[in-house]
Amino acid sequence: MHKLARSISIIAVYIAALFTVLNIALRIPDYTKVIMISYAAVAAVSAVILISVLINYERERVVRERENISNIMQTINAMAILWDADFRYVEVNSELTKTIGYTSEDLSDMKTLEKVLPADAFAPSLQAVINNRDEEFYVTAKGGAKVCTVWNTSIVSVNTFRKKKSYLMLSIGLDLSETVRMKEDLIQYSKNLAESEKRYMFSMELSEIGLLLKESGASNYHISEQLQKMLGITSEVISPGVFRARFHPEDVMIYDALEGTMTNTRSGDHTTHSTEFRMLAADNTYHWYQFRYKVNPGKNRIIADIGGAVLDITKDKEKDILIEKMAYIDDVTQIFNRNKFMQIGQETFECSAEAGQTYWVIVFDIDNFHIINDTCGYLNGNKLLNEFGQLVKQTLTKGGFGARIGGDNFAMLIHDNGDETLPVKIIKDIQSKLQEVSSEFLMHQTVTCSAGYCKMSDGGDNFAAILDHAEFSLSMSDGTKGDIIRYDNKVHERILAGNAIESELSHALENGELVLYYQPKINLADGSLIGMEALIRWIKPDGTIVPPNQFIPVAENSLLITDISNFVLHEACRQNKKWQDMGFPPITVSINLTAVDFYQTNVKEVIQTALAETGLEPQWLDVELTESLALKDIDHAVQQMKEIKELGVKLSMDDFGTGYSSLSYIQVLPITLLKLDRSFIMYLEEDEISREIVSAVIRIAKSKKIETIAEGIETIGQAEILKESGCDHAQGYFFGRPMPADKFEEFMAMKCGMNVNA
Ligand code: C2E
Ligand code: MG
Ligand code: MG
Repeated sequence: MHKLARSISIIAVYIAALFTVLNIALRIPDYTKVIMISYAAVAAVSAVILISVLINYERERVVRERENISNIMQTINAMAILWDADFRYVEVNSELTKTIGYTSEDLSDMKTLEKVLPADAFAPSLQAVINNRDEEFYVTAKGGAKVCTVWNTSIVSVNTFRKKKSYLMLSIGLDLSETVRMKEDLIQYSKNLAESEKRYMFSMELSEIGLLLKESGASNYHISEQLQKMLGITSEVISPGVFRARFHPEDVMIYDALEGTMTNTRSGDHTTHSTEFRMLAADNTYHWYQFRYKVNPGKNRIIADIGGAVLDITKDKEKDILIEKMAYIDDVTQIFNRNKFMQIGQETFECSAEAGQTYWVIVFDIDNFHIINDTCGYLNGNKLLNEFGQLVKQTLTKGGFGARIGGDNFAMLIHDNGDETLPVKIIKDIQSKLQEVSSEFLMHQTVTCSAGYCKMSDGGDNFAAILDHAEFSLSMSDGTKGDIIRYDNKVHERILAGNAIESELSHALENGELVLYYQPKINLADGSLIGMEALIRWIKPDGTIVPPNQFIPVAENSLLITDISNFVLHEACRQNKKWQDMGFPPITVSINLTAVDFYQTNVKEVIQTALAETGLEPQWLDVELTESLALKDIDHAVQQMKEIKELGVKLSMDDFGTGYSSLSYIQVLPITLLKLDRSFIMYLEEDEISREIVSAVIRIAKSKKIETIAEGIETIGQAEILKESGCDHAQGYFFGRPMPADKFEEFMAMKCGMNVNA
């Protein structure tokens, strides 16, 4: 109980006791009355003294309390006003005067205070504050500025001995200007944010970009509205399992890698990743998507934030695929072409050493493919190529890469599993399957293929060199009976020898070491000299003569062949013209062209120039082409040959019978002469079948108005059989060996006017 209240109660009890004593005293005897009255008087005096002490004490307390309040008011960091019970201001603190700009003297004028804190607004709010509610309202600072404030008021001092309403109230106020500004800023910011988010979402929608987000610790992906639309999903969250299931089966690996990135990203890694994959879209077909994302690694790198933009790139991808298809897919077989094989091969080559792995490179050639084309038609030829492509594909289902790298050439890149017999197993498997499929649609005709192979780690500076090795090995097969040749030291030595020849050969041409020999061509009917074949020889400074078979193939693999052929063409025309000018009866000079000359240069222009420069008339020049050359690209060959023929130059089919010659070519190719190969002639005398074949060929050629010449005639017997068979001309050691120009000149001089029958 309050100290003052207690004192008053004691006094009250005291007075009551006094009155009781007086009452009793009036009824008892006198002497006792005197004592009691005296006693009551003393008690009354002491009560008066006590009351005045108490009143004094209370006054002092109020003053002390008032001082304390004043002290507190001036030291607190908030506005403070002390009011009396009638809301009259008693004191304000410096914080208030500082905030509102009025001095306390200004405020002592009640009107000013009302101006600052309008009573009508303040009083009810004060009432509310008393009821323990913070009230917020504006006070008017000097100059009219409104300051937002919040106030809390409580009764702080009660004067017990005064009237009922004798108490003080203290209102503590806080200046909310800063908070209000922050709040306004915040409102503006969120407004801006909302607007920018709206704009952002709108632009996302316009640009059809979906957003995908997975927050650290969350088990599901959050997907934006746009992405929901794109994928045909109606929920804004999707579980990883459901998300993964939407991936194209071939791209599920990409999803797993994506999850892997989340756990493997290190803190501080701000890389923007990008990946492309196929996923089921709203139309229930697979679309291509690009996902550009960032990963924000979580604590302990276990769970991370991942978020990014998803863009539908199906149209671009389809274009890319089409372009890729055009650039890298072979039309006939629909498998990859040489360009792609080289690209993948080089990438594999670059990574393999680093990864400590190696690969096998196998190249295939379909044996005698041109015969299939010729005897079974192009459609069947293409079908065979297509079947081969499928065989390559099937073989590679377990891994590896395959392509059609040329006409009837295919290649494979296979990972080496340590089994050295792996390539041979694969080749043999393909060979037997090829026999099966070919016999099915080629009326029991079985087709074989030859192969060359090498190991990537067995040498080579780049993938082109590795492929060269495999192709070089393949070229060592005669391409007829399913050879399998591995690139080894022997093959390597041949390449080195070829390289040595190549570097020497380039000097040989400059140093005039290349010369032409001439071999006579005789008319079998009358033995007259009708022409000569220019055959190149390389006479080294030490006098050794290198035959063309040893250096022409090397020259063909380099750019040298063009220079050599040009030299032969010019020299042969020049020499022939010279002999004509010397008065020898005009005869034809034949030159040999290779596939490189024929397919890589404009032969017509080159020949035209040589004729113009040497002055030889075109009918005295004959171009010999082999059938394999013509068959590489028959349409192109026919076109080139027609152009040459238009010049008036003659065309001969050389080495007829060496490949799987077919007389049907004769109808297609615009040739004037058919040269029967020496292999036909060699056994003419003893072999009945050879004789029959030769006479049949001659008969058919004649029916096509094509002249025939036999080469490699070494005996009179062969010459006679050929003459009887109706062969027009002959060439061979029997009539004359290839000889240098001066010797040939003597031969011509001797031959002039001579009759072979004579
Ligand atoms: P080819 O065009 O078939 O030339 C005929 C080859 O048969 C010549 O060999 C010739 O010497 C040889 N020969 C001719 N008659 C007989 C004979 O009775 N018996 C024997 N055993 N051989 C005979 P050569 O000169 O060694 O030429 C070989 C091949 O080299 C030529 O075959 C031709 O394909 C090519 N060649 C020669 N000179 C040139 C040239 O200037 N340019 C090109 N691109 N190739 C050439
Ligand atoms: Mg020839
Ligand atoms: Mg020949």
